[in-house]
Amino acid sequence: MEKAIFLDKDGTLIKDVPYNVDPKRVACYPDIFNSLRLLQKRGYKLIIVSNQSGIARRYFTEEDLAIAFSELRKQLMAERIKVDGFYYCPHSDIANELQCSCRKPLPGMLLLAAKELHIDLKKSWMIGDILNDIGAGRAAGCKTILVDRNHEERKKDRISDPKFRPDFILDDFYELNQVVTLEKEYYE
Ligand SMILES: [Mg+2]
Ligand SMILES: [Zn+2]
Repeated sequence: MEKAIFLDKDGTLIKDVPYNVDPKRVACYPDIFNSLRLLQKRGYKLIIVSNQSGIARRYFTEEDLAIAFSELRKQLMAERIKVDGFYYCPHSDIANELQCSCRKPLPGMLLLAAKELHIDLKKSWMIGDILNDIGAGRAAGCKTILVDRNHEERKKDRISDPKFRPDFILDDFYELNQVVTLEKEYYE
């Protein structure tokens, strides 16, 4: 069984430009590279899990998304970081439309990845910039980290709900290395 880091994409790995699929506007946060390299070295698979309701809304196609994603994969490759999986929810986020089981905070993408890539969810982490990422991680049985760069998410009431409470709240990925060290001491 493998262990994995599930990563949200927009607002976590790259700057959040709503519904963007233009590869020219895919810009990684510079703080992610060292952390991701370290995690990969520690034996974690790196798996991106992303809500992409722009597909259901017909703002862009799955082909457009694939082009934007290959740009992200290329930028990470240039930093010697290999993405082991990319899962996205293409379904609607519109309230009275049919709801799926994979849109975060539901854990569908993590459960599918675990099945396909033989991942032990209890040894895995979900990292994201909003509480819906944390909700998905907790529902899947992972440990969770909220990277709350602008200190907005931690002000929300829902953060004290056990279903959405992160194990760690960080300002950025620079702090992540300490957590990885902690994890080694306490969980292994
Ligand atoms: Mg996000
Ligand atoms: Zn879905």
